[in-house]
Amino acid sequence: MSFSIAVRKSISAAHLLPGYPGRCSKLHGHTWVVEAEFSGPRLNEHGMLMDFDEAKRALEETLKPYDHSNLNEIDPFTRLAPTAENVAKIVFELLESKVKAQGIRLSCVRVWESPSTMASYGESKGA
Ligand SMILES: [Zn+2]
Repeated sequence: MSFSIAVRKSISAAHLLPGYPGRCSKLHGHTWVVEAEFSGPRLNEHGMLMDFDEAKRALEETLKPYDHSNLNEIDPFTRLAPTAENVAKIVFELLESKVKAQGIRLSCVRVWESPSTMASYGESKGA
């Protein structure tokens, strides 16, 4: 058994999927909602897995360079298709490196391109 917490942050950003045979090959924008989930078996002396403010701050710092931008113009999306799946993976890696030093485990990053479409990257459930 383990505890988990999640925080969300939304950003506005444009993207296009080069070479994709569909309308996503044209530049368009989304309000991306990014959720980071942290987990662990033990709570700290305050009865928390992690302070929500600390989690929010780490996520906001990670997303800042991408807000109000064209993702295709920002590393690594100059060479990697900025799909929701790849955005989830890159945010996971950047955020994980921020919190790892504090001994906090990032378990999953979920990215919504719209209220009905989500991609995630992280530990697979049940594994
Ligand atoms: Zn799109």
